[in-house]
Amino acid sequence: MKILHNTDLQPFNTFNINSIAAEIFVIESMDDFENNLKFPLKNIKIWGGGSNILLTQPQSDTILKIETKGKNILQENDNEAIVKVAAGENWHQFVLWSLENKLYGLENLSLIPGTVGACPIQNIGAYGVEVKSVIENVEAIDLETGKTLTFANQDCEFGYRDSIFKSKYKGKYLITSVIFKLSKKPNIKIGYGDVQKILAENGISNPTPSDVSNAIISIRQSKLPDPKEVGNAGSFFKNPIIPIDLFDNLKQKFDNIPSYPIDNESIKIPAGWIIEKCGWKGFRESNFGVHPNQALVLVNYGGASGKSIHHLAQKIQSDCYEKMGIKLEMEVNVW
Ligand SMILES: Cc1cc2nc3c(=O)[nH]c(=O)nc-3n(C[C@H](O)[C@H](O)[C@H](O)COP(=O)(O)OP(=O)(O)OC[C@H]3O[C@@H](n4cnc5c(N)ncnc54)[C@H](O)[C@@H]3O)c2cc1C
Repeated sequence: MKILHNTDLQPFNTFNINSIAAEIFVIESMDDFENNLKFPLKNIKIWGGGSNILLTQPQSDTILKIETKGKNILQENDNEAIVKVAAGENWHQFVLWSLENKLYGLENLSLIPGTVGACPIQNIGAYGVEVKSVIENVEAIDLETGKTLTFANQDCEFGYRDSIFKSKYKGKYLITSVIFKLSKKPNIKIGYGDVQKILAENGISNPTPSDVSNAIISIRQSKLPDPKEVGNAGSFFKNPIIPIDLFDNLKQKFDNIPSYPIDNESIKIPAGWIIEKCGWKGFRESNFGVHPNQALVLVNYGGASGKSIHHLAQKIQSDCYEKMGIKLEMEVNVW
């Protein structure tokens, strides 16, 4: 196991924030867990690809940076395959691997940054698909006892950008691998966003899962800022789910308010629309701000501190609450 001391975390986080970690243990194999770590593990933070973290202070906790590798088909039949993937595998590379192996269900989640081990934490989702629909089990180590546990899908309490690992068991488990059930029969889902439009523009009327993946990759590349050029962590806030009464009130003021029904009592509103209507889209203060084309994405134009971005996020939250009565919840982990 590699151990790094007083290391700058800037190359490891997509916000490109400078921050020092007192100690980083780089975990490359299961032997590293078994031979080098003494349980209970206290004052620990787990790091995947650093694409959903905003660093606001030097990190005094020991960071376990998960770089374990491995993708194995455990079982298969004519219809589906059960695949076990190590936590440190890159998410998008795994999506591409699944397509090469004619295993389907992940194509709508193409190009989401980060690692496989982090995918259950906030139940990653995009273009009408959430990863919970293909997760069979999650294997994890209890940081207190060192015991390995298997969580079945229903035990993970998956919700919108949420799971038991982000709520009740936050910081309690280290996910070592995720077991997926992937289909051998394509189930094309193109009803969300501009996917259908891009496919039509490319003359594709009967798309394969790879066509869907390529369309989503090109949409994401054109719409979202590339963290290599402008530091960001994707959507900074969750899309709020609000009561129908509040929605009806807002509709009187904003006729064209976009919405997605949840049930008879609640409705989801795009947080980006709220932020834009409250006047924050494109806001810039020296080297940080709100992206000019994507109001949901806060950006570091270079050299900004995590504290200043966090402060901006809090100002946006209170302003949107004042103007619309909607509480925006941060999706990004603030450390
Ligand atoms: C440009 C961009 C676009 C994005 N688009 C999307 C999107 O479309 N949909 C979406 O859902 N998300 C999106 N995200 C957010 C991000 O990609 C996901 O949340 C991703 O799953 C984070 O993975 P990571 O490995 O980088 O996790 P990190 O940022 O390293 O960690 C995130 C959290 O997970 C915990 N964690 C990480 N690995 C483990 C592990 N093995 N065991 C236990 N805990 C762990 C960390 O402690 C932390 O709390 C986007 C981010 C960016 C920068």
